[in-house]
Amino acid sequence: MKFTVLIHSEDDSSAPSMVAQIERTGPLNAATFGLTLAESKSLLANVQKELVESQLQCFVRKQRICTHCNTRRTIKDYHTVCFKSLFGGVSSRVHRLNGCLCEGQDSSARTVKIDGLVNWVSPELEFIQSKLAATIPYARTADLLGVLLPVDTGNTPSTVRRRTLSVGKRLDTELHDAADAVQIESSKTDTDSVTEVGLDSGYVKDCRPSSEGSFEVVVGRIISENKDSRSLGFVRTIENNRAAGHRLKRRLSEQGQISAGVAVFTDGDPGLRCLLMSALPNATHILDWFHLTRRLTVLKRVLFGQEAINQFPTDYHDPLCKYLESLKWRLWHGYIGGAINRIRAILFTLRLPTIAGKRAAVRMRRLIKELLRYLKNNQDSLVNYGRRYRSGRRISTAFMESAVNQLIDKRMSKSQQMRWSPMGAHALLQVRAELVDGRLGIAFFRWYPSFTGEKQLCRVDI
Ligand SMILES: [Zn+2]
Repeated sequence: MKFTVLIHSEDDSSAPSMVAQIERTGPLNAATFGLTLAESKSLLANVQKELVESQLQCFVRKQRICTHCNTRRTIKDYHTVCFKSLFGGVSSRVHRLNGCLCEGQDSSARTVKIDGLVNWVSPELEFIQSKLAATIPYARTADLLGVLLPVDTGNTPSTVRRRTLSVGKRLDTELHDAADAVQIESSKTDTDSVTEVGLDSGYVKDCRPSSEGSFEVVVGRIISENKDSRSLGFVRTIENNRAAGHRLKRRLSEQGQISAGVAVFTDGDPGLRCLLMSALPNATHILDWFHLTRRLTVLKRVLFGQEAINQFPTDYHDPLCKYLESLKWRLWHGYIGGAINRIRAILFTLRLPTIAGKRAAVRMRRLIKELLRYLKNNQDSLVNYGRRYRSGRRISTAFMESAVNQLIDKRMSKSQQMRWSPMGAHALLQVRAELVDGRLGIAFFRWYPSFTGEKQLCRVDI
């Protein structure tokens, strides 16, 4: 059996061109049943070549005619361009046209330019490459696309990286170029309003040989009552406080009005808290319960560890256990004074001569002093977590933990053995944030109004 696939332009009288020839000899088996991936890639690449060449020829022909006086422009010279798409690269020779005399001073030579096309790269290729690269490593993105599609030109890992980062930089520039004066209005209604905002940070490995090892990445999430959540991320050393504040305000303004009782969550980091409070001066800052209770868990682990059990006599160990339990209870109910008293009681016990010199006591004293300092610094951010919890309101930045996980850990985490430059991580974070929020496609529709990427391409499961 032999099949020939021809392509014929209905606007053209020329003979059809062959784009594929498929031959099947021998007995039918699983390998020869239907179209193979290699055949489909070759077919697609040839169809793309025919289509691009025909479209370009037609376009160039039209471009030669001056739209003002209908005369033919003269050709200055030729150059080769390569249109890169998901279906391969197509090289074509196009001419540069001299300007028409009727254009006066504007009559300089100009090259062929297709509306909305930048650097002869199809928006779809740019979209798919950056979408995949925001989820999996650059090299795997290039591999995956190469396996499935005839995308040969412009699909090396370094090109995928450069293209993805340029999408990130474009998103970043767009955000910062937007008007400075963002008005965030307070609203007493609970509809369409921002109810919770959280900021947290994580670390990624630094690729620079001169660096200490890692740098800090801040991520945030804005939760609205009736809208989707919005994510943001930036590298702390790249974005100063003013720029970070602007980023936060822009994202807040996209999510609607600010609810009267908006709550902002941090782990107690003064810089993040300051950033949030400057954007939302009327918000209630709440120290995240998850971070607070994590410190208690560490203390508990030391107290119930074998070392402490061996070193502390029972009449010291039992009261310490009770104090720790009651410390947690007091913090849960927002009794900061009572909690500090309990900490002092624990410190007093740990300083008693019988156990003061023991290693477990020294470790516990260090941890409890750190906790005391942490609580004193965040005294005004402790709330009655129990009451909030019972009334169904958030007490923890679990939503932030998921933001850290989605924005940093899944793509940039240390477990992936990846190293990053701060600029590279910052640009990729912009793409990742749009992807996680399901808005990367919207950005492409904004940049390329004729972008025909399927709507479903914009929806993602991360
Ligand atoms: Zn003219």
